[in-house]
Amino acid sequence: MTDWLMAAKSQKKDYLEDLTALMKIKSVRDDSAATDKYPLGPGPSQALAAFLEMAEQDGFRTKNIDNVVGYAEWGEGDETLAILAHLDVMPAGKGWNTDPFDPVIKNGNLYGRGASDDKGPGMACYYALKYLKDQGVAFNKRVRFIVGTDEESNWTGMHRYFEVEPAPTLGFSPDAEFPVINGEKGQVSLKLSVPAGNGDQYVLQSFHSGLRFNMVPREAVAIITVPNKEQVETAFTQFIDDNPISGQVTETAAGLQLNVIGKAAHGMEPEQGINAGTYLATFLDQYDFAAGAKSFIHFLAKYLHLDSRMKGFDGAYTDPVMGELTMNCGILNFDQENGGNIDMNFRFPKGITPDELETMVKKVTDQLGISVKQGPAQAPHYVDPTDPIVKVLMDAYIHQTGDQDAQPEVVGGGTYGRLMKRGVAFGALMPQTPNTMHQANEYQPVDDLIKSMAIYMEAINNLVTD
Ligand code: ZN
Ligand code: ZN
Repeated sequence: MTDWLMAAKSQKKDYLEDLTALMKIKSVRDDSAATDKYPLGPGPSQALAAFLEMAEQDGFRTKNIDNVVGYAEWGEGDETLAILAHLDVMPAGKGWNTDPFDPVIKNGNLYGRGASDDKGPGMACYYALKYLKDQGVAFNKRVRFIVGTDEESNWTGMHRYFEVEPAPTLGFSPDAEFPVINGEKGQVSLKLSVPAGNGDQYVLQSFHSGLRFNMVPREAVAIITVPNKEQVETAFTQFIDDNPISGQVTETAAGLQLNVIGKAAHGMEPEQGINAGTYLATFLDQYDFAAGAKSFIHFLAKYLHLDSRMKGFDGAYTDPVMGELTMNCGILNFDQENGGNIDMNFRFPKGITPDELETMVKKVTDQLGISVKQGPAQAPHYVDPTDPIVKVLMDAYIHQTGDQDAQPEVVGGGTYGRLMKRGVAFGALMPQTPNTMHQANEYQPVDDLIKSMAIYMEAINNLVTD
């Protein structure tokens, strides 16, 4: 039996050389430099051209599709195994200790943009494929190693590929973590509009909380005019004391300004955050606001506060394999002239649909005069754990790492795996390695990269010789 780790080690020098060359290309999408020839700006296309030239010299059949996506191909057969990686990277951002586009190895770690997302893992996987080809392994299927150049924003390249090439149904993407991600929840936002309008005595002049639909809002601020200023100030101070938030009240020319600070978190799991907006609404709900202002406040306080599982709507739902339906309320705004808007972002498992979610929410909002519009939806994606694409990959991972307890995982969403019916994400972040993707000083331990190459060798070998 082949010692795949030894085989991977034999490729280390060439691999690091080719990887370094690719990491030096600043393949950040740049719309300000976009042309007809380079619709994503020149950087991503340069990385694509460099990779395809490499692959051609290595003996692969290659194709460049419109400078946004391409592939290296090996093997023959009716079935195609697709491997989906990407060559674009996030902008460097601030805070680097080294040049993000001049990779260096320090203490066994490779530093540089793309070391872990996704040039490092992608090239480890490419080298695994190349090794099997060079060893003369008889492939019983076609393998296409497809590289996108816009994974970090709109998936322009990969969408183009699926438009013009036969869609692969089987494959994996080395652009996440080990072991296998075989499920991703669906995602949809309901956008709620609240009419304007206030009472005479209590006036909600403005309310703002949250910047992005997929984050729990950390801050909220409201400006109100009230007939009983002192009472409200005292009650607010007490409210801050009684709850896991901080905040302050200030008298301004426009009225009383109430600030609340909670805790931000990813919208995938709102329970890890403290939604400043729904706390502030809960405080305001005791006062006699009227019309649209009242609907806005009351809806947030009564139905969205401390409830990311839709219990207040009688809508809690759990799928036995994909887990719970979750909802994050990431954007909450109101102003006197325009009324309010609220974004409810759902991550939903199979067994429930966006239309059902809309119906559930409308039962409540219809009574409050709030209208609901459904945003674009992504369906949930799930590949059965008994499917060979999951089993073979899991076995290769377990065999190379000895991690006997490893299980395939379901995540909140976002990998190329969902593009294929039998598509999963597979590596290359090891469970014990910190995730530095998208951050300053992005790195990946060189030993992890070599081990991941061994895992990919074993996995691809078993998939093309089964
Ligand atoms: Zn990525
Ligand atoms: Zn990324």
